Amino acid sequence: MNYRNSHKLMWGLLIAGILLFAVGYSKNEMLYFVLGTLCVISGIIQSAIFYRCPYCYKSLMDCRDGIPKYCPHCGNELD
Ligand SMILES: [Zn+2]
Repeated sequence: MNYRNSHKLMWGLLIAGILLFAVGYSKNEMLYFVLGTLCVISGIIQSAIFYRCPYCYKSLMDCRDGIPKYCPHCGNELD
């Protein structure tokens, strides 16, 4: 998996987790909260593993505004 797919997957899992929380809240079902938590946690874990610069392998997690144009660690262009 490359950093681009990992970034998309992280957002997909975070949104899925939020939706599961919303469903769990409206149905008052604990199971949805558990599934939502698992989605959010797995999203964070996979991005900690895969969301990295392909050149220096440092994490891009501290970049707040999506995928940066250049790696903040080594300066290589990300595309
Ligand atoms: Zn880098």
